[in-house]
Amino acid sequence: MPDLVHNFHAVLERIALAAQLAGRDPRSVALLAVSKTFPAEDVRAAHAAGQRMFGENYVQESLTKIEALADLRASLEWHFIGPLQSNKTRPVAENFDWVHSVDRLKIAQRLAEQRPAHLPPLNVCLQVNVSGEASKAGVTPAEAAEAAHAIAALPQLRLRGLMSIPEPAETIEAQRAPHRQLRELFERLRADGLELDTLSIGMSGDLEAAVLEGATIVRVGTAIFGARDYSH
Ligand SMILES: *Cc1c(COP(=O)(O)O)cnc(C)c1O
Repeated sequence: MPDLVHNFHAVLERIALAAQLAGRDPRSVALLAVSKTFPAEDVRAAHAAGQRMFGENYVQESLTKIEALADLRASLEWHFIGPLQSNKTRPVAENFDWVHSVDRLKIAQRLAEQRPAHLPPLNVCLQVNVSGEASKAGVTPAEAAEAAHAIAALPQLRLRGLMSIPEPAETIEAQRAPHRQLRELFERLRADGLELDTLSIGMSGDLEAAVLEGATIVRVGTAIFGARDYSH
């Protein structure tokens, strides 16, 4: 736990330094702490250190954690960031504040239908496959405008912006290239009348590159919680 708190402050420092380098207000970059595979107690410790936004990838695991942390519900935000199958959308629509990984219109339609009326609209990002890898989820940049306009028109959802998970790259220049492409797409959609305010890019290994290219949310797991163990 002391590690976790130390790591958390080190990540905030990295964000602040990158923001300074980019000439941006550090408060314009939000940290999403990606707690997948880590226990509820780690989320509780990060929350006690001041963290408020948490990201999860797996529906069943996240529901158990959300339940275990129900006492903190009013003071934290749950963001779903993993691949979402259409038969698993209901618990996500009912329990999360955000979904970053909307990768097709059908998923958005189901989330819109299933978002309970007593809750505020679900915040969503459209996932874009910028690098065009066949293995990666997301709409292609060419499909993004049509999908974004269709999602923005759905009830009980609020389309906030774009998300991507580019291929890992070694140099900061190589890391920046796909982030820049996503930002340019984001700017075109805004010029086209969509009220978007969120660019969800950057992880433990490339958050500086993402902040330099305009990230408003960086999604950081390993650098806060440590290496993930998928063996159980
Ligand atoms: C796991 C995950 C992250 C966090 O990755 P780290 O490299 O551990 O910081 C960010 N975004 C998504 C979509 C993820 O699945």
